[in-house]
Amino acid sequence: MEWTEPGVFEVAPGVYRIPLPLPNDGLHTVNVYAIDDGDGLVLIDSGWALDAGETALESALGTLGHGFEDVRRFLVTHAHRDHYTLAVALRRRFGTKIALGAGEQPSLARIIARRRDGQIRNLATWGAPHLADRWRAVVASIGDDELRDYEEPDEWLTETDLALEKRVLRVLPTPGHTRGHVVFVDVDSSLLFAGDHVLPHITPSIGFEPARPALPLGDYLDSLRLVRDYPDLRLLPAHGPVTESSHARVDELLAHHEDRLAATLEAVRSGTGTAFETARKLGWTRRDRKFAELDLFNQVLATGETAAHLDVLVHRGLLTTEERAGVTVYAVAAARSGADGEQG
Ligand SMILES: [Zn+2]
Repeated sequence: MEWTEPGVFEVAPGVYRIPLPLPNDGLHTVNVYAIDDGDGLVLIDSGWALDAGETALESALGTLGHGFEDVRRFLVTHAHRDHYTLAVALRRRFGTKIALGAGEQPSLARIIARRRDGQIRNLATWGAPHLADRWRAVVASIGDDELRDYEEPDEWLTETDLALEKRVLRVLPTPGHTRGHVVFVDVDSSLLFAGDHVLPHITPSIGFEPARPALPLGDYLDSLRLVRDYPDLRLLPAHGPVTESSHARVDELLAHHEDRLAATLEAVRSGTGTAFETARKLGWTRRDRKFAELDLFNQVLATGETAAHLDVLVHRGLLTTEERAGVTVYAVAAARSGADGEQG
């Protein structure tokens, strides 16, 4: 795929897309965007703290006539490893300042405190104790050296206009993919540095983080509408190619989740179900694979995605919940089983 080729690609005057390698094959590469800003650079996202990523970034900056010491600041869209950790590693050597969305604070605090129970408690609530057991074993095998890549940023970002030397970036909190995800809008140049909020080819996972909020999909849909209220912008995503219309992709993502909500409601309609039981009735990935064919990581993601959709359906009054021995069981709301749609 063309967009995974290494190099430096000017995607707007003074803005460069730099794809960096990732160790897992699913996403292929992460895009770092270098913004030419006077005598230095501002980088949006940093990549994963890997030798191969660091070497690729160094050579890309070299192409632009710069080194790591010229990076004035990292603006990071969210705390996931592929976006945040190389910034932390480079700050140790170059003192580069890092800014991250304020909403990432609770999840980052849990990671830094080595608390590894977040998904495990969620999986119990979602009715998947055996997945929780397998996940516990995986999490226990994560070495402290991998967690060492996480430290607090220098600056917590809230909604504001950031004045760089040559342009103004609007920081827009877009909770959903993670609760502290932010995008950066350059209104004058019609650019959306979208992180993982709006991706051209895939739908980002929702709420896969140590401190999961109450309604991550509800937050995500609100954040999509927030971006939709801006003028149509060139989409600069963290994974995949640059495309011309933020509106077109946001509309597709909103439609996708409405389809998914309808399918999730249909899966519960035959009776009651936990998030895990409901996830097993749905198709997964663009190839519509069976839940049982997914690996452990993707089964955990799929169960969490299903819970996120079920909770939005509860919020819309279409489903009800009941706690049974610590497990959430969903059922079609009595008044709604005949006709839905008044409330939305
Ligand atoms: Zn990512």
